[in-house]
Amino acid sequence: MKYVIISNRLPVTVTHTPSGIAFSRSGGGLATGLDSLKTDVSKHWLGWCGVHVDDEEERAEIDATLAKDLLHPVYLTQEQIEDYYEGYSNSTIWPLCHYFYSYIVYDEKFRQAYWEVNELFCREAVKVVEPGDLVWVQDYQLMLLPAMIRERVPDVGIGYFHHIPFPSYELFRCLPERSDILRGLLGADLVGFHTHDYMRHFISAAYRVLNVECQVNEVQLFDRVSETEAFPMGINYDLYHNAMTTPSVQTIAEGMRAIAGDSKIILSVDRLDYSKGILVRLRSFADFLENHPEFRGRVSLVMVVVPSRDAVEMYADLKTAIDREVGALNGKYTSVGWIPVHYFYRSFSFEELAALYHTADVALVTPLRDDMNLVAKEYVATKRERPGVLILSEMAGAADELRQAIIVNPTDGKHIENALLQALTMPEEDQWAALRPMQELLQRRSVDVWVQEFMDELRRAKDRNDRLKSKFLGEERIREIQDRYRTASRRLLVFDYDGTLAPFVSDPKLAVPSEELRTALGRLADDPANTIVISSGRDKKTLDTWFPNPRIRLSAEHGAFFRDNGAWHGDYGQMVWGDDILAIVQRVTDHTPGSHIENKQTSLVWHYRDVAN
Ligand code: UDP
Repeated sequence: MKYVIISNRLPVTVTHTPSGIAFSRSGGGLATGLDSLKTDVSKHWLGWCGVHVDDEEERAEIDATLAKDLLHPVYLTQEQIEDYYEGYSNSTIWPLCHYFYSYIVYDEKFRQAYWEVNELFCREAVKVVEPGDLVWVQDYQLMLLPAMIRERVPDVGIGYFHHIPFPSYELFRCLPERSDILRGLLGADLVGFHTHDYMRHFISAAYRVLNVECQVNEVQLFDRVSETEAFPMGINYDLYHNAMTTPSVQTIAEGMRAIAGDSKIILSVDRLDYSKGILVRLRSFADFLENHPEFRGRVSLVMVVVPSRDAVEMYADLKTAIDREVGALNGKYTSVGWIPVHYFYRSFSFEELAALYHTADVALVTPLRDDMNLVAKEYVATKRERPGVLILSEMAGAADELRQAIIVNPTDGKHIENALLQALTMPEEDQWAALRPMQELLQRRSVDVWVQEFMDELRRAKDRNDRLKSKFLGEERIREIQDRYRTASRRLLVFDYDGTLAPFVSDPKLAVPSEELRTALGRLADDPANTIVISSGRDKKTLDTWFPNPRIRLSAEHGAFFRDNGAWHGDYGQMVWGDDILAIVQRVTDHTPGSHIENKQTSLVWHYRDVAN
């Protein structure tokens, strides 16, 4: 048994250099968490290696080098990267999951590439995955993969983690491929999300799109259950909390403090993305300076925007808008010796970032929608000698956990402005009082714990499905039943009708027994050793019409009537319902689209199977 992690990217970057191929390990939360996982089980990782390689010899060299670390590269063409990654993943699924409906790009070429690349990942995965393994698929680039792997490798535990928000059913239903995507995800034994809300949205989408049986946190499929759970991702707490003990970080922090002078620092760190709410944040800061002139010259916003996807037009436009906004703000308020916004459009090293977290008096984290937001957690974790205040958007997954932060609605500029005033005037002891419980939580729920909990839960979900499988009639059990049938001198065979002898359909009148079924029942009934009974909630007349053969015994209206040798027993008159009762049931039916009334001899039935679908 082994663990196999599958993600779009391997935790290593391969590059072409003048002296040959170079390999560099990239950290990342998941890689750190996995490294810390205490287990004797070997850990394999499969994913794209970050470079386009055509040459067979080069591929062999890359394969051999990575194999030593149990890493398995998948090779993608430039076109595949553009259409599957930039295209379907980032231009269709990303805006959909972040509630940017009008930004969604539908392109059949993107969709095809997504299917093709998921298929390619599957082909590579089955070379590595063996029965008994635990496979953990990561994120929205590979949503079809769980079902694809399940189809090809039986007896494997599959987990999936969705690292971005999962939108409400109302939005998810807009995706043309909604059913395929959901079926792909439900190939997993365990589907994980950052928050309870995302998990509930997923369950509700599965229920309404696929019409499958769902509980609070599981979807019941034909022969197994797909469980879902919220696992809020943590950070490497010790790394951030101990950062300020490193001399190099201290030096950078001192430099930053010197530049800021007496000004307080508000920090903002994001990747360039429309979901991060950067423009609203800038405008709120401008309004803050406008409405609170006493803070001019005394507070600066340090804004780090990490370049991302800026070859895509929408991102390039956002960058231009940010540049313009910063320019206008600084042009209006800058004075000699003070700049309101220090704007960096580049990536920061870990040391620089930790120094910034340490130095900043306030972290302003106001995404319009964010799966989790690790910057908020890293800021809180880094605080040691200097306190600070976290202002956090209620739309970030982290807001579920970091409850002592000042929580704001990121679309409400006034709310952000007020939060800034509160944060900048908060006494130090209040800042520590808020930071401490958040730090305790982050320490307790670090990324190591996140990985461990997911893997433990995946193993449990797989064991549960293995037990469920053993309840199904395998070939052996069927042979045993056949043997007993052959050797028995008398047999009683009782059949349920709807859902057993005939599938459920939306109009019950259409669930007519097939010719094949009638013939099979007739043959069984011809054997004098057999007593055949059909037990149903249906009325006498319907059953009589469908099964005229007198050798088949019938139980109608749940046993109120019984037909034996062609004669009906059970003496009930037609139940007559008062008009007032009928009016109530009719009213409820009219108000519940999809439901209908059935008036039987002994009962009045309200059918609601098709409601809400
Ligand atoms: N980060 C970084 N360099 C930078 C800015 C940010 O390495 O210059 C890291 C930061 O430490 C954090 C991650 O990028 O771990 C951003 O994660 P978050 O969840 O906040 O946003 P995402 O980019 O995943 O949407």
